[in-house]
Amino acid sequence: MHILELFKHLVESKSETPDDGNLLDFIEKYLADFTAKRIDIEDTKNLFIYKKFGEGEHLCFAGHVDVVPAGEGWSTNPYELVEKDGYLYGRGTQDMKSGVAAFIQAVSEVKEFDGTLSLLLTSDEEGEATFGTIKVLEYLKETKQLPDAVVVAEPTCEESFGDAIKVGRRGSINGYLTLRGKQGHAAYPEKSINPIHNISKVLGNIADVNIDDGDEFFSPSKFVITDVRSGMQVTNVTPNELKMMFNVRNTTLTTQKEVTMFVQKHFSGLDYELKLTQGSYPFCTNTDTKIVKSIDKAIEKVTDIKPKHSTAGGTSDARFVAQFGIDVIEFGVKNDTIHAINERTTAKEVKDLYKVFKELITIYEGKK
Ligand SMILES: [Zn+2]
Repeated sequence: MHILELFKHLVESKSETPDDGNLLDFIEKYLADFTAKRIDIEDTKNLFIYKKFGEGEHLCFAGHVDVVPAGEGWSTNPYELVEKDGYLYGRGTQDMKSGVAAFIQAVSEVKEFDGTLSLLLTSDEEGEATFGTIKVLEYLKETKQLPDAVVVAEPTCEESFGDAIKVGRRGSINGYLTLRGKQGHAAYPEKSINPIHNISKVLGNIADVNIDDGDEFFSPSKFVITDVRSGMQVTNVTPNELKMMFNVRNTTLTTQKEVTMFVQKHFSGLDYELKLTQGSYPFCTNTDTKIVKSIDKAIEKVTDIKPKHSTAGGTSDARFVAQFGIDVIEFGVKNDTIHAINERTTAKEVKDLYKVFKELITIYEGKK
């Protein structure tokens, strides 16, 4: 198949999370000379498929075949790849069937490679992701098959194709704080402890304040308050306690420990309880690593553009890969219509992405 025919097949197979639209079976057949391992758990379908060409390093391409629901209001059928005004429309064209088509086609054409090439695919990235990529990585760890480097083909470009790769992502820490007081009559404030009055002296020092200064790759970790509530909706009773929720999109410079210390500093002398949970952990792949240097070179060769190294945006399955100590980067087409009505990309971007991955495989090759 030609890269665009393959892309059309992927887009036209309806695969709303966690349905894979039978795509994993299709990919297994498409790469018939690769060794496949299916790891299906509950509704989630996963495929790890690899070929050992030589003794060198293991390079893996990762992604998801699932898409978010199309939603109402499309001007074309979201599960048909339609060419219009120079664009290719369809659900998943940017996120991320272009990436999946590009790496399948690129690895399918490899004749020689001094190492192992593999694909890691899941049907649940857009959902909870509980039984997806993380489960495959656990299996690969157990069977000592973890790759040396992973490229997640999520859409990363901003203004033009080739202008950005992701080398990391921020994490997310959720905070729940209870500030205790002593309930009383509004007429005798000296006899009670009012948690609203107490937090009023603190708020100005914490709201929208940076916990760290950020660095070359990350903007600062900010303390963002999302909810404050207290009181009984009356004017004559001061409340017993106050509850506040907050979120910190954290860099690699800030962990739960720094957030706890930040709260301790500003709430010292007050009676409070703090609970933190980690939504996801931040990661950043060193830009001196072989995978970052190789993808930079491959992009420059195809597009003449030097990509910037970004960590912006929400989370992706790359966070799971990083947890296993693997060098991981993300690169794909422009991401200006992901999850939106009338999602679209261009034929040129899909073809160029496939060319970048082909170059990457050649450039990355090398002995351990
Ligand atoms: Zn995606």
